[in-house]
Amino acid sequence: MSNYHIKHLEEYYQVYRKSVRNPEAFWEEIAEEHFLWRKKWDNVLSWDFKKPEIKWFEGAKLNITENCIDRHLATRGDKTAILFEPNDPNEATQHITYKDLYHRVNKLANVLKSKGVKKGDRVCIYLPMIPELAISLLACARIGAIHSVVFAGFSSIALATRIKDSDCKMVITSDGSYRGKKTIDLKGIVDEALEDCEGVKSVLVVKRIKTDIPMKEGRDEWLQPLLDDASDELTATVMNAEDPLFILYTSGSTGRPKGMVHTTAGYMVYSAYTFKNVFQYKENDVYWCTADIGWITGHSYIVYGPLANGATTVMFEGVPSYPDYGRFWEIVEKHKVTQFYTAPTAIRALAKEGVEYVEKHDLSSLKVLGTVGEPINEEAWHWYDDNIGKKQSPIVDTWWQTETGGIMITPIPYCTPTKPTYATLPFIGIQPALMDEKGIEIKGKQADGRLCIKFPWPSIARTIWGNHQRYKDTYFSAYEDMYFTGDGALRDEVGYYRITGRVDDVIIVSGHNLGTAPIEDAINEHPAVSESAIVGFPHDVKGNALYGYVILKETGESRNHDNLRKEINQIITEQIGPIAKLDKIQFTNGLPKTRSGKIMRRILRKIAGKDTSNLGDTSTLLNPECVQDIMDNAL
Ligand code: ATP
Ligand code: MG
Repeated sequence: MSNYHIKHLEEYYQVYRKSVRNPEAFWEEIAEEHFLWRKKWDNVLSWDFKKPEIKWFEGAKLNITENCIDRHLATRGDKTAILFEPNDPNEATQHITYKDLYHRVNKLANVLKSKGVKKGDRVCIYLPMIPELAISLLACARIGAIHSVVFAGFSSIALATRIKDSDCKMVITSDGSYRGKKTIDLKGIVDEALEDCEGVKSVLVVKRIKTDIPMKEGRDEWLQPLLDDASDELTATVMNAEDPLFILYTSGSTGRPKGMVHTTAGYMVYSAYTFKNVFQYKENDVYWCTADIGWITGHSYIVYGPLANGATTVMFEGVPSYPDYGRFWEIVEKHKVTQFYTAPTAIRALAKEGVEYVEKHDLSSLKVLGTVGEPINEEAWHWYDDNIGKKQSPIVDTWWQTETGGIMITPIPYCTPTKPTYATLPFIGIQPALMDEKGIEIKGKQADGRLCIKFPWPSIARTIWGNHQRYKDTYFSAYEDMYFTGDGALRDEVGYYRITGRVDDVIIVSGHNLGTAPIEDAINEHPAVSESAIVGFPHDVKGNALYGYVILKETGESRNHDNLRKEINQIITEQIGPIAKLDKIQFTNGLPKTRSGKIMRRILRKIAGKDTSNLGDTSTLLNPECVQDIMDNAL
């Protein structure tokens, strides 16, 4: 029996049990039946969380691009693989078929080869969301080069740090990018970054905005003429199962970015298998994930997972607000999108603009809605469910991390009954554990603790590039024989998980552990509040007290702020208890956020604690300007 596609809850439980009773037999069967191997493995799994060392499908030989492209050519050659929707709605959509993709990937791979890129070399990709971005990943994978994608919203300093950390010898970029009405000079940012990166010998430049830009003699070349001369055939390099496929830096909301290393076979199997089930993907569906390929979500669920299943995956170049706030819904209608996967921050931003933008469009093609990246608050969950899914499309709140490579805790749509703010059940093969402060696993269903994973899954990152000790310290040292996620979670009476935020964000007030997410959720229910963040600050009696930063829906909210403060604390008292009441509430116009929409709490924590001498690296912030404003108005 194949367990590749789970269709109802009973089947989920049955397959889940099988996957944890005998993980090796389970994953071996999935790998055997659904992927293309040049040679099968000698050993399914060997692992040691103490070293730590994890190996899946050792001895196997394969190339992931043969799984994502070549094997579909016979049956899906003319099917759209990548559906590209440009920033400008008047520019034509591009349908890149599997056959086109095959030729374009081969051409670029041949160019990389001709520039001396070899198996194991690192190539930095700094591109906007245009087809060349996905094609670059695949071209690297085709020849065994390790790609390191840096999100093209990052500054030159952030880019240089990442290029140097993984010692890239080439950068693939473009003359610029479009974002709504704006254009961004990407090549200028690369030039600045490279002043500090001697190792980069070659820069390939995609023409996108067609401006005249300086090209450095002997280093920079336009890509198109090279592609025109390259052959569109190339035999894929045979890779070992555990050869690195890519490096990807975590988004860096808690400190110095970590270059997570993902390897070939396990990552392929897990990203493909989760994609199939979490999105209930069927042959003629049109799947759209709005993330940027610069994040793990884009790697696993725009590129590798969908393509390994022969899916049609949408790539959108633009922003949700251009030409107006209805752009997402216009695209859903235009392409009859069936699965839509986005982030809570995008949902909140769109909810703020009102439903008029939604109502103009026919969203009846949608079957599954997804969210990822941070806890989704209850209000946003309901807005998404009511207005986008019309209560007909299950919401999959998917919890996972750059380090995990694929989705870890999630409902399976049409199988798992959903519950707002709960990521619900572990995915097949995933064995979560909640730990108390003493390092003991909390047994029984209802629990509140630190989220760990007890057993390896195929797509767990194998190391941090160049720093295995940091990998061990960060993930395998807090609890013996466990992968520690850094997140806190609650488990309810049926075994559903709710992520309560990062453990660093759990604040101990008078000896009680308070997660930030549930308190912020309560605050956000106040009708005047649009968003909030809470942090702890030192308090003589309680150890820590809570400091809330609150954004109001109407900036000119005329009501007395002290009354508002009382009402907010009233809601918190009702929903969580008086212990969680805020000592200080600062109304603000913005919260410092990472480019992926996460609140940089470490900055807020420092401001609340009146310790602003060293705020750390703020160069990757989306809105650095709000920091000064918050400091000026701190309580
Ligand atoms: P860094 O590790 O550098 O601080 P980061 O953790 O923000 O960066 P990512 O790997 O992109 O980098 O994010 C993973 C984290 O995002 C998770 O550990 C969790 O805190 C949060 N997260 C992701 N999805 C969800 C979700 N569905 N519900 C709650 N939290 C989520
Ligand atoms: Mg993290």
